[in-house]
Amino acid sequence: MQNKNKLPSEIVLTYKIKHNYDLKNLLDGFMSTSQKAVDIIWENINWKEKQVKHRFKSKNKYKYYTTTRLIPEIPKDKDFKRELRNYLLNGWNFASHYVDGAIKVAYSTIESWKSNYLDGKRKRNKPTFKRPFVRVKNTLIKYDKENGTIRITIKARKEYLVLDIKNEWFFEKIKGFDIGEIILKDNEALITFKKPLNLSDKKVVIGVDSNLKSLDLFHPEEGWIRIDLSELRRIKNVYDVIIDKLKSIYKKAPKRISILLKKYYNRRKNRVEDFINKLTSQLSKLFPNAIFIFEDLDKLNMYKNSNFNRDLDRTSWREIAKKLEYKSIVFYVNPHYTSKTCPVCGSKMESQEGQVVTCEKCGVFNRQFVGSFNIFKRGVKLVKKLLGGVGVLPERSDGNLKTVRFLCP
Ligand SMILES: [Zn+2]
Repeated sequence: MQNKNKLPSEIVLTYKIKHNYDLKNLLDGFMSTSQKAVDIIWENINWKEKQVKHRFKSKNKYKYYTTTRLIPEIPKDKDFKRELRNYLLNGWNFASHYVDGAIKVAYSTIESWKSNYLDGKRKRNKPTFKRPFVRVKNTLIKYDKENGTIRITIKARKEYLVLDIKNEWFFEKIKGFDIGEIILKDNEALITFKKPLNLSDKKVVIGVDSNLKSLDLFHPEEGWIRIDLSELRRIKNVYDVIIDKLKSIYKKAPKRISILLKKYYNRRKNRVEDFINKLTSQLSKLFPNAIFIFEDLDKLNMYKNSNFNRDLDRTSWREIAKKLEYKSIVFYVNPHYTSKTCPVCGSKMESQEGQVVTCEKCGVFNRQFVGSFNIFKRGVKLVKKLLGGVGVLPERSDGNLKTVRFLCP
């Protein structure tokens, strides 16, 4: 299907901690080396001319014109890279692996510039770095899992930086994880932890349907489970009322009110985030061996003008799926007609008022049950394709509802 469903091979978590080391020299050196690398790669780009066809509409007819574009070919061969490395190592005082990190940063910066350039979002201007950071390669890091200490080599066999994470709030969460890359900044460090993902313990597919006041799940053994989200709605409403009121009197004191607006927007965002964090943690704990199936909302736009018309809050929906991706496995399926396909015979059902949909042959169904069930079915198909059908339980199709009330503690 779409590349969103590439099988994840590991869980990656990132946490931020403060440090008091004076890293000015390393930061400056790393940034100027990364910039030098960008400069050299940039000078060696091979610009190839390409004819590009453009289309425009004039008097209901399409017309075409062509222009010439310059397509960059980034030098990547071994000899070039070796020479670049040797050049940058000249006069470099810190561990030599930092130069490899700088080269990696330079390449990924140019690659992302290139894809934006090809999309027409960026001009043909060389990228430059603004905020200093250091990308620390794994080879420079020693991690003592038991004692929670991370030792980073600054100068080989001479200078080290030690980060103590034993008393950090996330220490419990990363038990059993290995350490990945670290980004060092002025007074903080972003640390990645990794754990290989074992998909063989994922034995259940759960379809998740979005509704305004609930998440409706379909679980092959438990059946239809509804998770009440009225608390999330209540939180949003509380702040929306305040925000609307402030907006209505905005002209009276624009400066003061925009400060207040910012404050309430932030509070709303934090409370919603907090709720979604707790909700997704609960879901992954409740169903540790599940693969969750969500509708691919990016595909929704394609059906904007069709009869897909459900009242959903896309932002929180997207955020729930995204947050769950960190804690469990999430796959996405095509959302087209998930609430209109008969769960028994698969024919298209007519839309009716309220909560009910009817199949001429099979009878009446609850719309939300139908949604989660069809998402589940599409998920089973997808998982079978990706995992070869291992461990997927047989489908159950009755619509007996179980309600789970989720309250944010
Ligand atoms: Zn039917």
